[in-house]
Amino acid sequence: MSLAGTPIIILKEGTQRTRGRDALRNNIRAGIIISDAIRSALGPLGRDKMLVDSFGDVVITNDGATILKEMDVTHPIAKFIVELAKSQDQEVGDGTTTVAVLAGEFLKKAEELLDSGIHPSVIVEGYRMATKKALEVIEEIGTDVKEDDRSILRKIAITSMGSKVISTYSDYLADLVVDAVLAVKTEKGVDIDNIKVEKKAGEDLSNTHLIKGIVLDKEVVHPSMPKKVENAKIALVDSGFEVSKTEFNAELNITDPSQLQQFIERETEIIAEKVQKIVDVGANVVFCQKGIEDIAQHLLAKKGIMAVRRVKKSDMEKLAKATGAHIVTELKDMTEDDLGSAGKVHQTKIGDDDMLFIEDTPYSKSVTILIRGGTELVVDEAERAIHDALCVVRNVVNTGKIVVGGGSPEMAVSAKLLKYADSFKGKEQLAVRAFAEALEAIPRILAENSGMEPLDVLVELRSAHQQGKHTFGVNPLERKVMDMKDSGVIEPIVVKKQAISSASEAAQMILRIDDVIASKETGGAGGPPGGPGAGGEDGGEFD
Ligand code: ADP
Ligand code: MG
Repeated sequence: MSLAGTPIIILKEGTQRTRGRDALRNNIRAGIIISDAIRSALGPLGRDKMLVDSFGDVVITNDGATILKEMDVTHPIAKFIVELAKSQDQEVGDGTTTVAVLAGEFLKKAEELLDSGIHPSVIVEGYRMATKKALEVIEEIGTDVKEDDRSILRKIAITSMGSKVISTYSDYLADLVVDAVLAVKTEKGVDIDNIKVEKKAGEDLSNTHLIKGIVLDKEVVHPSMPKKVENAKIALVDSGFEVSKTEFNAELNITDPSQLQQFIERETEIIAEKVQKIVDVGANVVFCQKGIEDIAQHLLAKKGIMAVRRVKKSDMEKLAKATGAHIVTELKDMTEDDLGSAGKVHQTKIGDDDMLFIEDTPYSKSVTILIRGGTELVVDEAERAIHDALCVVRNVVNTGKIVVGGGSPEMAVSAKLLKYADSFKGKEQLAVRAFAEALEAIPRILAENSGMEPLDVLVELRSAHQQGKHTFGVNPLERKVMDMKDSGVIEPIVVKKQAISSASEAAQMILRIDDVIASKETGGAGGPPGGPGAGGEDGGEFD
């Protein structure tokens, strides 16, 4: 860049800049590579990935969002795809592999169009219109479910867990998931924050249980406190039974031993006052978010009060909701009205550890799923699978709409979009068509992952969908193309809508970038940090 012959330097030395076609190509490549890396995990016969981090910790999973998260990618576009899967997980809880695969397919098709000389902005516009139409089509093919139709809800949970390690137990776990969701349902719908999931390695998945109430991975703090309290009156305290630093902030200048004695006595007094307050309001169980000092433990134990310390804030909130207690900070202001209640609170051994059960809570819109399983790896994967299942069942209870799976909705949308494409005169037609073809990737990969011949499957599916059989899809387990209505593979409509729209948005965003300016430190698009290819030719590290 120069002005009247004088070069003007606007970028820091070492900054890498790639522009125009190169920048776009590099980004597209990176997106495709990352999405290709997880396609083999899609569907009920998708393979699991074993990921080992730099500390040697191992995760075995089939969950798209988890795979991407653990992959620790450095390319900014690859990171972007990882974020995409994460937000799919947060929004709707399932379809994370699907969203990453679709984003990659949209990019692949875009690359072909770029090769034939079509401008990125035309592709973006075509994709935008195709997406709008796609969402309409999904809405049309979706069907309504009654929010308490257990058999449908079970099938939704089973479909979502079907592709995970734990699928042999999915029948049993699906019942737990549906029970849990229906147990916390109110007029306002289902908030899965009211379902707590705890895990403890040991026994096997069939020992996983649903508890009406809350389970904490905690112990009673003092051995001589009661381990079981019936008709519990519960105090929730978010300050400690200890003398906080601020109460004795000043420096102590002790000149003779009696002063120290006095000081300790005063400390003890403060703690004793706090304990006395608990006794006065009539609580027999205390959950404390902070610490409980030895002396306080001793005093509480003497009064026969059960106490638990260092309870997580999120658990305190759950306890408040379920028991009706108010969380109190200033103990001196506490009254009887601040107490909550529970039928019983008990400490019980699960595996090698003690856990706390708060059961028969009056505002019982709170339940816990306690996961058991052979090893940490199993309970971790079970937790992810149960999380997904809870989300999909919640989605359907809250929105009441479903589609059948096996790639049938993607195929149906694809078929409709191909017809829709004909209504465009300009080059957008090609982009809409490309978008439609990209959607076929879902049934194609489902077929591929089950060892079927993908092209045969697509030919069969296309012809079915041209005849308007919009529920036809792939059944990888039976290795055939069939009417998925007869297979019980059911998914919430929101998962499909979210996956298509956010994958498309991501692809559009990548297509709009024509200039990558990366500081040396970040490495920038296209290469490892500081490496020779920084900001350069390809996403080499993913090959
Ligand atoms: P995601 O992370 O995208 O949810 P999954 O590995 O769970 O990925 O696979 C989901 C895809 O697999 C969906 O398209 C769904 O319809 C399909 N699917 C799941 N179970 C079956 C099944 N039993 N038969 C056919 N398709 C299935
Ligand atoms: Mg899934």
